[in-house]
Amino acid sequence: MVSRVSIASIVQPHLAQLTPYQAGKPLEELTRELGLTDAIKLASNENPLGPSPKALEAIGAHLASLHRYPDSHAYYLKEDLSRYLGIKSSQLILGNGSDEVLDLLVRALVPSGGEVISTTHTFLMYGLLTQAVGGVFRTVPLKNMAVDLTAVAQAVTDNTRLILLNSPNNPTGTVFTRTAWEDFLTNLPPAVTVVLDEAYIEFADDPDVPDCLDYLSEERALVGLRTFSKAYGLAGPRVGYGFGPSELMDYLNRLRLPFNVNRLAQVGARAALTDTEFLTRARELVRTGRAFLAEGLTRLGLDFVPSQANFMLIYLRREGKQVYEAMLQEGVIIRAMDAYGYPEHIRVNVGLPEENQRFLAALEKVLGL
Ligand code: PMP
Repeated sequence: MVSRVSIASIVQPHLAQLTPYQAGKPLEELTRELGLTDAIKLASNENPLGPSPKALEAIGAHLASLHRYPDSHAYYLKEDLSRYLGIKSSQLILGNGSDEVLDLLVRALVPSGGEVISTTHTFLMYGLLTQAVGGVFRTVPLKNMAVDLTAVAQAVTDNTRLILLNSPNNPTGTVFTRTAWEDFLTNLPPAVTVVLDEAYIEFADDPDVPDCLDYLSEERALVGLRTFSKAYGLAGPRVGYGFGPSELMDYLNRLRLPFNVNRLAQVGARAALTDTEFLTRARELVRTGRAFLAEGLTRLGLDFVPSQANFMLIYLRREGKQVYEAMLQEGVIIRAMDAYGYPEHIRVNVGLPEENQRFLAALEKVLGL
């Protein structure tokens, strides 16, 4: 007889507290559960226009090659990106979504017991990835719903290895200014790596928003993160990237799995980079959609945070989870924000004009306004 093992006793103890990332509810799931066929999803900050048409065409033309492994080094995508960004190919790391690049950074830089500093009310993966390596995740409160860089700098200790910042910040949609960012960078100990996650940077129109590319240097432990999941409409294939000092990118490259960016993602991303028309349309849609939602929410007497991203955080003054559930019955998937530390807020991403309208009408009904 085989004696039974206690699985909990063989798994690393710090994993006991780890909870899986809760993604936005997929449309297919809502259809299965409620039988709704015309539901809309405004829960995961995806691009309502669909994928970039050029990416779609390139992916379609590539399907017959699916029996081949991808290029492990994604040579051509890196070449294209380095030209597009005006940096060296060696300053890039690609990932299965920017999520993976974050994972690589945390694994490369944070030892068990090492400290990661981020903010309250930000992207949930930062805390989860830190926990996964047994790191200590410390959060600095937001100030007026925005990242307070002075407070983040003050929170740094001798044990701090990594600072994870997000601008525009998910879920608040707020940004910080170039001046605040430059002050922050100059006063940091050089051995603390700063990651600026710019997943939503394409949607920001405030001229004061810093662009991490402008601060890239071989001498500075600073990494910018971007993704094809939002502005380029390629959340499905999974592809994102980081840029930073070549030496650090080289370490990350050693850590990653050999074929981390799949074939369809590589060809899709290359084509999407050339699809300037799509990018312009996506930006325009988000800007007009933000204004439309802001006007509608104001008319309903609801508070929201002015956003530089493709989503808005709305304050309901009542349990967000209940509103989320009631909205599902109306066929509108949004996001409750309790996991983000906002039990009385919801987050909605900008959709197509008719989706924005439907969201507002459903919210009005659900809230009994
Ligand atoms: N960073 C932020 C702030 C995000 O909101 C997301 C997506 N939810 C990601 C990173 C990850 O994006 P992806 O892995 O799809 O590139």
